[in-house]
Amino acid sequence: MAEKKIRRRGKRVRKGRKHESIKIHKLFKLEGEKLVRLRKPCPRCGPGVYLAEHKGRLYCGRCGYTEFEKSK
Ligand SMILES: [Zn+2]
Repeated sequence: MAEKKIRRRGKRVRKGRKHESIKIHKLFKLEGEKLVRLRKPCPRCGPGVYLAEHKGRLYCGRCGYTEFEKSK
């Protein structure tokens, strides 16, 4: 007895990615053999938690620590 194949309808098809060019959180950068951290670690949470970059300031999403960047 052949089983009836049930066709699934409503298959999700992504049409044109709008945000493809956006790269997610560049936390590290490889320079040769060096691993350069682009974010500062949070002084409160310790290493492993990094500060998110905002305009003119760094913010920790975990504890809420905010550090203002020194203008050059
Ligand atoms: Zn923190």
